[in-house]
Amino acid sequence: MERSLILLKPDCVQRRLIGRIISRFEDKGLNIVGMKLMQITPDLAKQHYAEHVAKPFYPGLEAFITASPVVAMVLEGLEAIRVIRDILGATSGLKAAAGTIRGDFSSSRQMNLVHASDGPEAAAREIKLYFTDAELCDCTLSLTPWLR
Ligand code: ADP
Ligand code: MG
Repeated sequence: MERSLILLKPDCVQRRLIGRIISRFEDKGLNIVGMKLMQITPDLAKQHYAEHVAKPFYPGLEAFITASPVVAMVLEGLEAIRVIRDILGATSGLKAAAGTIRGDFSSSRQMNLVHASDGPEAAAREIKLYFTDAELCDCTLSLTPWLR
């Protein structure tokens, strides 16, 4: 089992797409182990996007990600990190394949609805940025084995 940090970005929340996007993850069989609506501060944005802080698009990205609340989630499942990145599609909504979240709902390089960790190290780092251990629940323990 792997865990990944997901953000439903301000465009997703403002467009009232939370339910439809979460449904895609649930339909695939991923389990929610943490979830909250929260405001990202400029300081948290810089930590989250540390690899991008020096890039020309960063000021716009920070303004966007701090503009209004996001839904932060931890999803768990087999090969969850790759599976979720596949469900998201390519970074730009203009390049993402039809059938992916970004391909179906975004026509923007920046406003692409969802963030997901891109590897195991990023997932571990990002989950700690948003959640304490006490905020994460292992709901799968009470499931019958074939529903895990
Ligand atoms: P991903 O979210 O697919 O992992 P990156 O880590 O490369 O993509 O970039 C982080 C976020 O920064 C993207 O999801 C997008 O919101 C924004 N972004 C990336 N590249 C650009 C760009 N060229 N112009 C504007 N925003 C960008
Ligand atoms: Mg990334």
